[in-house]
Amino acid sequence: MTPPLLIRESSRVRRARIVVAPNQPVEVVVPPGTSAAWIDGFVAEHREWIERRRAAEPEPSLGLQRDGVAWLGGEPRPVLAGDLAAWYRRQARGMLTETVEREAARLEVSGWSRIRVGDPRSRWGSCSTRGTLSFSWRLVMAPAWVADYVVVHELCHLHQMNHSRRFWQLVDEAYPSRRVAQAWLKRHGPELHAYRP
Ligand SMILES: [Zn+2]
Repeated sequence: MTPPLLIRESSRVRRARIVVAPNQPVEVVVPPGTSAAWIDGFVAEHREWIERRRAAEPEPSLGLQRDGVAWLGGEPRPVLAGDLAAWYRRQARGMLTETVEREAARLEVSGWSRIRVGDPRSRWGSCSTRGTLSFSWRLVMAPAWVADYVVVHELCHLHQMNHSRRFWQLVDEAYPSRRVAQAWLKRHGPELHAYRP
C-alpha cells in the first residue's frame, strides 16, 4: 500500500534518525526498545520531509528492457514462452481488478462498473462518468504501491470528477504517500512507456 520503510534498531544511535538513499527503501534507525507507536508518530511527523528528500535523490533507471526478463510489481522474473504482450495484459487485468476491488472496499467507494486495460500514452488511468476505470497495462511492471496509488486516484474521481482541492484532499486521506508515488511515475514513466514486450 505505501512505499517501503525499513525500521532498524541500533544501539549506536541515541535519537531516532531517518536515512534516505538512492533507490533504497527509506530507513528509520531507532535506539533499541523504541515502541512501534512512537515510530509511527515520528514517521508521520516527518512525512513531508521524507517525501521531499526522496524526490530530490537521483535514481538510476530501472533497466526494464532485458532479454528473457519480465516484470511484475517491480520485480524481475523469467519470461515463459508465448506472447509476452498478451501475458502482460492478462497479468495487468488480474492485478488491477484485485486492487480496485480491495481499495473500493477499504475506501467504501461504490459506483465503478468495469475495468479496461489499454496502453494510453498521456495518463496512467482514467475514470468515466459511467464508472468505467481505464488503466495502462504498464502499471503491472511498477511496484505494487505505485499501481495502488493510480487505482486510489481513479476511485476518488467517482466522488470528484475533477482535480480540485477537494479531490486532492480525498486522495491524500486515502493514500497519504501519494507524492512519493507521483514522483516515482514522473521519474520512471518514460522508461515504462519505452518498454517493448
Ligand atoms: Zn485524475
